[in-house]
Amino acid sequence: MNEALNDRQRWFLARVGAGHFCRADDISADWNPVVGSVPGHEGLYVAVGFSGHGFKLAPTIGEALAQTVLGLDVRVPIDDYSLARFAAGHALHGAYGIGSIS
Ligand SMILES: Cc1cc2nc3c(=O)[nH]c(=O)nc-3n(C[C@H](O)[C@H](O)[C@H](O)COP(=O)(O)OP(=O)(O)OC[C@H]3O[C@@H](n4cnc5c(N)ncnc54)[C@H](O)[C@@H]3O)c2cc1C
Repeated sequence: MNEALNDRQRWFLARVGAGHFCRADDISADWNPVVGSVPGHEGLYVAVGFSGHGFKLAPTIGEALAQTVLGLDVRVPIDDYSLARFAAGHALHGAYGIGSIS
């Protein structure tokens, strides 16, 4: 089965003239990003674990994290995405259970 799929992929790639690559994807425990400071590590901020939907969030998260780091008013609050939510038992849940809420 694997070899058949590999053959099919090689056939396809040869025809469209494309290359391919693989990479790790980052999925958090509740499928939502971890954004903000890291408790116990002053000055360290992260924006990770976008769980397959980080592309669309990037402009807003980038702005909000920059405002946080600079100590400015944050236009779109990002507190719900804090790393501390897991230890506090506040993992994010959407209307249909665990999964992307943003
Ligand atoms: C096929 C696919 C389709 C997707 N479609 C969508 C979509 O439609 N909409 C959407 O919102 N999101 C989509 N996503 C998810 C989105 O691409 C990711 O959530 C987003 O790119 C995550 O951004 P990031 O900066 O956190 O991580 P990444 O984009 O993974 O960036 C991490 C960077 O760090 C580098 N890096 C890793 N390790 C090291 C190291 N040790 N030293 C130096 N550099 C390192 C990597 O090379 C990479 O450049 C899709 C993802 C995939 C794979």
